[in-house]
Amino acid sequence: MKKQILLSTPHMGEQERKFVTEAFDTNWVAPIGPNVDAFEREFSTLVGSQYSAALSSGTAALHLALKLVGVEAGDEVFCSTFTFIASASPITYLGAKPVFIDSDRTSWNMDPNLLSEALAQKAKVNKLPKAVVLVHLYGQSADIEPILEICDRYSVPLIEDAAEALGATYKNTSPGTWGRAGIFSFNGNKIITTSGGGMLVSDDGDLIEKARFLATQARDPEPHYEHTQIGFNYRLSNISAGIGRGQLAVLSERVAARCRNFATYKSALGDLPGIEFMPEPDYGKSTHWLSCLTFDPNVAKIDREQVRLHLAKHNIETRPLWKPMHLQPVFSDCECFNSRVSEELFQKGLCIPSGSNLSEEDLSRVITEIKKVYRHQ
Ligand SMILES: *Cc1c(COP(=O)(O)O)cnc(C)c1O
Repeated sequence: MKKQILLSTPHMGEQERKFVTEAFDTNWVAPIGPNVDAFEREFSTLVGSQYSAALSSGTAALHLALKLVGVEAGDEVFCSTFTFIASASPITYLGAKPVFIDSDRTSWNMDPNLLSEALAQKAKVNKLPKAVVLVHLYGQSADIEPILEICDRYSVPLIEDAAEALGATYKNTSPGTWGRAGIFSFNGNKIITTSGGGMLVSDDGDLIEKARFLATQARDPEPHYEHTQIGFNYRLSNISAGIGRGQLAVLSERVAARCRNFATYKSALGDLPGIEFMPEPDYGKSTHWLSCLTFDPNVAKIDREQVRLHLAKHNIETRPLWKPMHLQPVFSDCECFNSRVSEELFQKGLCIPSGSNLSEEDLSRVITEIKKVYRHQ
């Protein structure tokens, strides 16, 4: 059996160890410290946001963002349906209910027209959502400008889940920096990792200050421990932040490597019948965090499952595209503005190995095995 090729694995650079060693040498092994401060500053500079708060996960960052824009029990919050569950679960932590919005075909992200329809409908019955969670999936920005415009029209705050889109561009800026707040993730499978962590960004300094307060158990400024609110234990450790600083330094190389993966796959497989790669709208640049493609069984004469199972047999890890949230049993009672786009993507789509540390040989093994499925159909 050949060695396993995984979907996406951590890829360390040169400097991570230096920052972590510094933390050990100075005994800054705590959820505060110079690496945390520097990581926040360096991150803000990189994405172009005024303020950043380093947190224990992207999920924690989204939880705080929703709380700080005023989401409460009984509220509705709009959310992209085509995403990972962590975009939606923090809505439920607050006792609010997600309402899902489907994707468009050009970006696979939230369809601005469907959002417009949904907000108009909710405005009529006086039940506007408390926030819109816009997801930028697989390294690709959604079409933010029209979405922000619609949100502004109804005065609904936009929160961007850019967990998968660090390093991407939208009109030469970073997704995640357009709304009231944006979140990023440094989980182990993301484009850069701190082994686990997240970032909340905003141009609203007050919001970020409150996030830091809530993330450290909401401790009031007194010499003793005084609490007037319930908080969370959500700060990032100074050790993890050290890894993050090293990873930030190599982000552009990681993006380039993932784009190379995608280009290699596309040129080798793009002409096979019924294959379509994730489209890339010209308003920005995708990082191709994961290389995604769909197989149309009517044209290809093979389906996604055949490809997935064949690759698994040959020790190559793949994953179907995200199962839309409105199809998840846990959200079966939630409303969805549904155009069936994400349902179709889920049925036909596959993520193939995409790590920035894949070798040429790894890529050609994946390509060869996919071609074999076609030959043996
Ligand atoms: C990974 C991810 C998150 C959650 O980030 P964590 O750091 O794992 O908590 C949220 N949304 C999306 C779209 C993600 O892919």
